[in-house]
Amino acid sequence: MKHIRIILLGAPGVGKGTQAERLQKSFKCAHISTGDMLRESVREGTQLGEKAKSCMEKGELVPDALILDMVAERLGREDCENGFILDGFPRTVIQAEKLDDILKELELELDAVLSIDVSNDEIVNRLSKRFICTDCGKIVTVQSESDTSCPYCRGDIQRRKDDEPDTVRHRLTVYDSQTKPLIQYYENTGLLKMVDGIGSADEVYGRLIACLGVTQENE
Ligand code: AMP
Repeated sequence: MKHIRIILLGAPGVGKGTQAERLQKSFKCAHISTGDMLRESVREGTQLGEKAKSCMEKGELVPDALILDMVAERLGREDCENGFILDGFPRTVIQAEKLDDILKELELELDAVLSIDVSNDEIVNRLSKRFICTDCGKIVTVQSESDTSCPYCRGDIQRRKDDEPDTVRHRLTVYDSQTKPLIQYYENTGLLKMVDGIGSADEVYGRLIACLGVTQENE
């Protein structure tokens, strides 16, 4: 299996995390989710977590400076030698420019930037069903009101504070103003591929790997 170095772009709730996990298993590469890293820092009560917490709860972006050191350190780790999937990073043009510098320093090149596209109405609907386990941190999709515990570890599940409908709408506005310009940024580099995010996780996964020149038969 070839090594991949990709960015998954897309608004909150388009399925980046789910697809990144699948790609990570297939390509045996590192899955770098800045949202997961920040949530872990908040859970552990680190200095970074303390600084990031209120921005995250309000659906605002965490300041670039906090994110950039964290990502530079992560990309230098050994597991990234087998490739990586960036999920939720970069989110601003400044972050994208800095990522270019980091990769240049590491003498690495990106293979593709895959932007997953889903309408805002569908995103609000999907995120209203997304919960997180307070014990193991896994994402759980709730099908009915009687689902109150984590199917993996039986821990309590809660809606993420930033998945409350008003905050989701705010996060979508933040995405439009601060992250969407990255579509043009990567279009200019020739790396951008737009992927329809509607359909089952299998269907979307098939579209993503087709963009990478791989089919499900030969993966
Ligand atoms: P996510 O799980 O990727 O939706 O991230 C959850 C929250 O973490 C976001 O709403 C931001 O507050 C923060 N966050 C994650 N990644 C970044 C980033 N690259 N830049 C700034 N803030 C981020």
